[in-house]
Amino acid sequence: MDHALRRRRLGRALQGLGCDGLLVARGPNVRYLTGFTGSNGQVVVAADGRAVFLTDGRYEEQAAREAPDVERVVYRDRRAPHHAAAAARALSVATLGFEASLPYREVEALRAEAGGIRLVPVEGAVERLRWVKDEAEVRALERAQELTDRAFEEVLGTLREGVTEREVALALEAAMRRAGAEDRAFPPIVAFGEDAAEPHHRPADRPLAPGDVVKLDFGALVDGYHADMTRSVSLGPPPPEVRDLHALVLRAQEAGIAALRAGARAREVDRAARAVIEEAGLGERFPHGLGHGVGLEIHEGPMLWPGGDEEVPAGAVVTVEPGLYVPGLGGVRVEDVVLVAPDGPRVLGRATRELIALDGWGRER
Ligand code: ZN
Ligand code: ZN
Repeated sequence: MDHALRRRRLGRALQGLGCDGLLVARGPNVRYLTGFTGSNGQVVVAADGRAVFLTDGRYEEQAAREAPDVERVVYRDRRAPHHAAAAARALSVATLGFEASLPYREVEALRAEAGGIRLVPVEGAVERLRWVKDEAEVRALERAQELTDRAFEEVLGTLREGVTEREVALALEAAMRRAGAEDRAFPPIVAFGEDAAEPHHRPADRPLAPGDVVKLDFGALVDGYHADMTRSVSLGPPPPEVRDLHALVLRAQEAGIAALRAGARAREVDRAARAVIEEAGLGERFPHGLGHGVGLEIHEGPMLWPGGDEEVPAGAVVTVEPGLYVPGLGGVRVEDVVLVAPDGPRVLGRATRELIALDGWGRER
């Protein structure tokens, strides 16, 4: 990962944002610009790409190892805003941007230290750079998806009558870790039968019964990059209504993926998939956006939703995940991570998207 190149790119973008320096404090953004993965780090980046990284004494060694190519200030007095203002002065910054997500009390503390430096809030500057993935990022996402696929294969063997949602969630996490993931990308969603009517069901003690359709939404974390996949599996033959929902969602997903071309507007991609579901009269049962970017965060830009005005750039990596949810019956979602390559969409996952029916003993039919 070429962090210095990223800082230069950010520096060039600053003029358009009305500042000549930016204080970056959000963890994923700091990591993107420096490589630092600790819990407390800030970086001030100037328009020419020069930068000063700030952390406290706990992270001195880690910062030297992870962010060797940036000037570092290690403070021991808990006065981060004071050191950020000093760094901005050292970089000759006249107008310092700060992330709009910065807590109010930290903005106030920064104001108290700013002296003659003007302060302006900036929204999403580093996040926007992160939309377009470089080769190393795509490799990390591919690897995370590969481990996710492997965990899915493995967990099929645990889906037997009587197993609970929590047990399957634990099995998924363990399988991803065993395969080599550094962590889960998010707590897995495991929902049996009617529980799947909640899009983000929290696994509980519901036991698996014949005829249940299981919704699994999970992903592995590799080098800080998040995979995200949703599949459905039934224990024995699925109820015909759920099988039909799944077939419709799958058609919607294919339409969404086909529309995912560099330069397409986010809302047009959403529309391509949503139209398939609306034509079947089920628009009300699809209550969320079509997808989201993935990278150093599980949910990042670009967002694919009905109000999405932005163009999806080449190099973006997004999920495509239409879903249908019917209270009392259940729900299905089919979700894949897709790279928007210059020559068209490329799905990273390899696991089958069909509704897999297992027999009562947990074997594939
Ligand atoms: Zn998901
Ligand atoms: Zn997702």
